[in-house]
Amino acid sequence: MPGTELFGEEERKEVMDVLNTGVLFRYNHDAQRKGIWKAKEFEAEIAKFTGAKHALAVSSGSTAVSSMLAACGVGYGDHVIVPPFTFVATIEAVLLAGAIPVFAEIDETLCLSAEGIRNACTSKTKAVLLVHMCGAAADIDGILAVCKEKNIMLIEDTAQALGATYKGTHLGLFGKMGSFSFDFFKIATCGEGGVIISNDEQLLKTAEYMSDHGHNHEGENRGMEKHPIMGTNFRIGEINAAIGLAQSRKLPKMVAKQRAHKAIIQERLGKIPGLAFRKQCDDAGDSATFFHLLLPSADAAFALHKELGAQGIGTMYWFNNMYHYIKQWDHIKHLRMPYRLVAHELGLPQDLNTMTFSKSDAVISRLVSFNIRVTWTEEELDGFLIKVEEAVKRVMDGMVV
Ligand SMILES: *Cc1c(COP(=O)(O)O)cnc(C)c1O
Repeated sequence: MPGTELFGEEERKEVMDVLNTGVLFRYNHDAQRKGIWKAKEFEAEIAKFTGAKHALAVSSGSTAVSSMLAACGVGYGDHVIVPPFTFVATIEAVLLAGAIPVFAEIDETLCLSAEGIRNACTSKTKAVLLVHMCGAAADIDGILAVCKEKNIMLIEDTAQALGATYKGTHLGLFGKMGSFSFDFFKIATCGEGGVIISNDEQLLKTAEYMSDHGHNHEGENRGMEKHPIMGTNFRIGEINAAIGLAQSRKLPKMVAKQRAHKAIIQERLGKIPGLAFRKQCDDAGDSATFFHLLLPSADAAFALHKELGAQGIGTMYWFNNMYHYIKQWDHIKHLRMPYRLVAHELGLPQDLNTMTFSKSDAVISRLVSFNIRVTWTEEELDGFLIKVEEAVKRVMDGMVV
């Protein structure tokens, strides 16, 4: 991913600023910190980059989702529509909130479809937790229309889609709130961290209270601050924030370069007869962190994944992945937790052990994805594409099974 590929001097400089004052905590200590406020700067940088009015940095993309659900009032027994193709964190956050996940079908956008959401609505549906998978937008217009018609909230788990827009607006700004992850596998990383964006100041403030035991962060005496609600510790530390700040400043260049690489890949692979691609809702807005191939059959997709692997080219075959597709989520299907959840008490409206997701299976079983590298030279990209082209053609001709 670009963040790890371009990690360097800029990150070290920001971290040293923090180490030189020793103030590792993001709030208070005004005199000691000598004007160094990395979390605040990190938030300002993400607000500027996304065009959001407000941003809040927290400890991870997972705690960002939990903070959003809390701020939006999603809790006991509320039904939340979620996709079967996402990182498990999305589903865990719903269950930990005391809410009930209701799965809906995705389509070739790799995201929840408007139709899937409509079919999954129940009388208790409070929100859609929409995941913009692998760096590009879901069908925002269609989904917003269903949310309006059914009077349900849209909340965006934008963990994987920092840098991606839909019709010129950054993802995460279409719903009540949106969140990004800065873990080690995302477009930009700070080790562990997350950022929530919103144009609704009150919602963001509630998320802020939630992320720091209810502290309202007014005044200079932390022990005497008001506590409008309870919360917990989802705070980011200054060192992580410092790295996030340096990485965020690199985003415009990273995204531009990724998009240029994606255009070359699309041009080349687009010439192969019978090969299909992820359906883009706004192709120009893709953050271009991944490239997605849709093979004619599941067998062909798995064969391609194996064939490229044998040549040292790593690809993702998500259908078998333990953490990204529902097929392998036994622990979630059985609600395996060390303690009793609201979901155990109320039960799930869907029997996940017998239920099938035929539309989602039909897409994910044929999907092979690879990372677009930001540091590729022209020659490296060409060499990579020659191998992919040859492997795809061999697989499509039935020469590899
Ligand atoms: C990565 C990710 C998360 C969780 O982010 P962390 O920073 O790893 O906690 C949540 N949702 C999605 C869709 C993700 O990809």
